[in-house]
Amino acid sequence: MSSTVPTTERRAREARWAARLHEHGRRVTRQRLAVLDAVEHAPHAVAEEVAGTVRAELPGITVQSVYVVLSDLTESGLLRRIEVPHSPARYETRVADNHHHAVCTSCGRIEDVDCAVGHAPCLTPSDTHGMTIQVAEVLYQGICADCRAAAQSPAGSSRNH
Ligand SMILES: [Zn+2]
Ligand SMILES: [Zn+2]
Ligand SMILES: [Zn+2]
Repeated sequence: MSSTVPTTERRAREARWAARLHEHGRRVTRQRLAVLDAVEHAPHAVAEEVAGTVRAELPGITVQSVYVVLSDLTESGLLRRIEVPHSPARYETRVADNHHHAVCTSCGRIEDVDCAVGHAPCLTPSDTHGMTIQVAEVLYQGICADCRAAAQSPAGSSRNH
């Protein structure tokens, strides 16, 4: 089974990413397209996971190069970097809509949550100290349904999900 022949769907996605790269003044390279495609298919992936996917397709690229491409794409606004406690940074292609994240503190699962107010900043501080507030980062933390069910069922301890 070879994955080297791009499908029509794959070519359409690459054309879309190529246009976005142009919009952001970035040159279109195989490495950038591969990273964008990998992150689009695994939202909230850590850099190591992205590197694994990209290197399966482009064995010549080093892990370090994937990290450099990730931070360059984040800087240019094509990717969003999310900081989650007790986890390396995560990346996603859903940018510029001020959505938030809900994280399970037990298994680390992370889900998108639409912004409650629809625009940044989400919260109005009681005192801005004279600053113009642009962003309020909101991270919801809790226990996911799977972890809650596992904790409640008697067989839960033997099940690893
Ligand atoms: Zn969980
Ligand atoms: Zn997200
Ligand atoms: Zn919000």
